[in-house]
Amino acid sequence: MSRRNGLVISIDGTAGTGKSSVGRAAAEKLGYGFLSTGGLYRALAYTVFARKIDAANPDAVLKTAKGLVFTFERQPDATLKMFVDGEYLGDKLQLDEVGQTASKISTYAPARAVLTEKMREAGRDGGIIMEGRDIGTVVFPDAEVKIYLDASAEVRADRRVKQLQAQGVPADYEHILASIKERDLRDSTRAASPLKPAPDAVKIDTSAMTMPQVIDAVIKEIHKHAA
Ligand code: C5P
Repeated sequence: MSRRNGLVISIDGTAGTGKSSVGRAAAEKLGYGFLSTGGLYRALAYTVFARKIDAANPDAVLKTAKGLVFTFERQPDATLKMFVDGEYLGDKLQLDEVGQTASKISTYAPARAVLTEKMREAGRDGGIIMEGRDIGTVVFPDAEVKIYLDASAEVRADRRVKQLQAQGVPADYEHILASIKERDLRDSTRAASPLKPAPDAVKIDTSAMTMPQVIDAVIKEIHKHAA
């Protein structure tokens, strides 16, 4: 399939494998846009929380999802900055509680379908790297290049602790490890679009790799397609 602005490249995998850092860096090198689709689930979770809607009520969550208007603005670092009903929610979306609620409400198939459509709109013309859990399997099963990143839960918890500490946020390794394992289990065992590699995805285990090595490996895969 040929798209107006280039390829659609999906990067899926468990939380903390470096999907965002790798996707952003690869997109910058290619002159592509980069979208972290967890942001849409996080935005829905945040809105549900802010409006005091019951996150355990799939119908109320669906209604909220339908009402959200997402707009994206391409930044110099390739990132598609997301606005929800015209507002940039920024760091509020990164709170662990928001991630946990996002993981819970992302088990609701009808709400997923609404957000999936918004992602397809954002990526339709190509020239984009999209990072998430089901981009290569559900959102863009016809993506030209599909990458699946994984790493052990311990390595991912360690990376997250260092990331938080670098931001001056206190972090407890055991708590973060438990939270990662809980989220992995829920993401991979849910009935709606469970986290799993697409049959045609290139799988990369990043446990023993540095970020530049992972970026190189991903760029190589993209170039293989373009060759
Ligand atoms: O990647 P991030 O941690 O921001 O994603 C938050 C949550 O959103 C994940 O735990 C996952 O449950 C959900 N998600 C999803 N499908 C995507 C992206 C994120 O179900 N494509």
